[in-house]
Amino acid sequence: MMLALNQPSSGKRVLVTGGAGFLGSHLCDLLIREGHEVLCVDNFFTGSRTNVAHLLSHPRFELLRHDVTFPLFVEVDEIYNLACPASPVHYQHDPVQTTKTSVIGAINMLGLAKRLKIKVFQSSTSEVYGDPSVHPQTEDYWGHVNPIGPRSCYDEGKRCAETLFFDYHRQHRLRIKVARIFNTYGPRMRADDGRVVSNFIVQALQGHDITIFGDGSQTRSFCYVDDLIGGFYKFMNTGDEVTGPLNLGNPVEMTMIELASEVLAITGSKSKIRFEPLPQDDPKQRLPDISQARALLDDWQPKVQLREGLTETIRYFEAQLGGKAA
Ligand code: NAD
Ligand code: UDP
Ligand code: UDP
Repeated sequence: MMLALNQPSSGKRVLVTGGAGFLGSHLCDLLIREGHEVLCVDNFFTGSRTNVAHLLSHPRFELLRHDVTFPLFVEVDEIYNLACPASPVHYQHDPVQTTKTSVIGAINMLGLAKRLKIKVFQSSTSEVYGDPSVHPQTEDYWGHVNPIGPRSCYDEGKRCAETLFFDYHRQHRLRIKVARIFNTYGPRMRADDGRVVSNFIVQALQGHDITIFGDGSQTRSFCYVDDLIGGFYKFMNTGDEVTGPLNLGNPVEMTMIELASEVLAITGSKSKIRFEPLPQDDPKQRLPDISQARALLDDWQPKVQLREGLTETIRYFEAQLGGKAA
């Protein structure tokens, strides 16, 4: 994206891959608010134009349909690489494409960053820790990951992407920012996303059974999207010596039973709970240690309480689904 001569901008030209997805679209919003130009690249596998519809007429926003597994030649000042389906249902739909997106997509974005000598941010994941034997997870833990299971296309794809980021950093002196994102939720998740927060909310609003996989004692820690995206921006703007990997998430752990009760309480839904089999390799517990993020990102930490974040997300889905709790 060349800056047009008649459109001077004081901000940077920022490429966001996966920019029409859940997290990506919120990041595009923040970058536009901060005065930057945004080139949003997406192949619309799980993302949609609707997520960025409100930005389409903005003079500093541009949307490009492109698959990051193919080379991309553009002129920008910074890259945030978010392209990759994130919900187990979606990343297991075409697992070969998931690994290609993580690995070849990373190579292409690293090649682009190397040619332009610019900073590149990678949205890695707590899944690199697999089903963790260290709790809470600190960045120096190497993980416990099955290399050949149904989650491996995502977990190993993201691990390989981290390897590539650090090798480009060591070998080509590239400036990198690798964030390990823990479960995040909020408006613009798809109703059919398949992740637990959106599933429970949609089920509660439609009066369907709440599907708890396993006995519901497994834990996760849920971060509201605005808190996470604020962390991305702070991380990207740290000094070059700060490469990560850096955990970003909410250090409040809960069971899926507790989450279901909270969703039922807020919606007032009469939905029943139904237990279903636990998917293979489903991590039993997950909780980020965010002391590094706190120290490096100017005391960054999530501010939105679960109840507040869920209420906001429920409001979003009520509008999407056109109705109140059944
Ligand atoms: P999402 O599915 O809403 O967004 C992913 C976006 O990438 C979509 O818009 C999709 O169309 C696009 N995409 C997929 N393959 C592509 C390709 N080959 N080329 C171009 N675009 C492609 O998911 P999300 O929750 O917004 O996740 C965004 C990123 O954050 C992902 O990299 C994911 O691994 C990471 N992440 C998210 C979470 C979370 O809890 N939301 C947790 C850990 C990591
Ligand atoms: N690449 C890209 N855009 C660019 C520069 C490179 O998409 O502006 C791709 C390129 O197609 C290559 C990958 O990034 O496949 C890695 O580039 P790198 O220069 O590291 O490797 P090489 O081209 O030497 O294989
Ligand atoms: N889960 C559940 N019911 C659902 C969807 C998910 O109980 O309808 C469970 C899932 O088995 C996992 C947790 O909720 O233990 C979080 O799942 P999600 O897919 O949101 O994220 P991830 O497993 O990748 O952390």
